[in-house]
Amino acid sequence: MTEGRGLVVVAEDDPAVASLLRLYLTRDGFGVETYSDGSTARHAIGVHHPVAVILDIGLPGTDGIEVCRQMRAAGDRTPVLFVTARDDEVDRIVGLELGADDYVTKPFSPRELVARVHAVLRRSQPQVEPSTRTVGPVAIDVGRRRVWTSGTEVALTATEFDLLAHLLRQPGRVWRRDELLGAVWGYSAAAGSRTVDVHVSQLRSKLGPTCPIRTVRGVGYAADERGDLT
Ligand code: CA
Repeated sequence: MTEGRGLVVVAEDDPAVASLLRLYLTRDGFGVETYSDGSTARHAIGVHHPVAVILDIGLPGTDGIEVCRQMRAAGDRTPVLFVTARDDEVDRIVGLELGADDYVTKPFSPRELVARVHAVLRRSQPQVEPSTRTVGPVAIDVGRRRVWTSGTEVALTATEFDLLAHLLRQPGRVWRRDELLGAVWGYSAAAGSRTVDVHVSQLRSKLGPTCPIRTVRGVGYAADERGDLT
């Protein structure tokens, strides 16, 4: 049964460990299906498309490493968390570069394992905000706070950068001056909107004709590829 957070397939042949995992993952809102051998688990993964897979390495028949190998060979990128009983198995996981997302070593705390499942799920999500974006000839690296136009880096002040980054986060969206003041400066709408105009004008003079910021008459500003100097 799949619950709110999605289904996790667990391959674990130790019934006590399997039921402990089921208990904690269920309590945390995951649906859980447990399997005690590798080939049945592998089949279930292909059929049910879980959000994450927990693989004990020492399984009867097809072991956890082989299950992961088969998944990756089939193009299945579902996050995999290995459960290992021995340190030498850790070496095998790391050495084989199987595309396993993490591992825990037995004995483990179920709470820790659930936290690891959340972490691999977070890492496997597409980034909500890509670090680098381009609008026309302008490229901005939000993480490193750098901006280029036609390949040449442009030095911006912190506020100019924040204003440009904010506008480029949703290309084409029209912002009122008071919205920009609130978002970039943290001011209330009562503060002078002339501040926004001054910074837009500075960005235009630094970025030149490639500046993606467009004046929306009677409203405010937007940034997109049709940016102009009006
Ligand atoms: Ca085992």
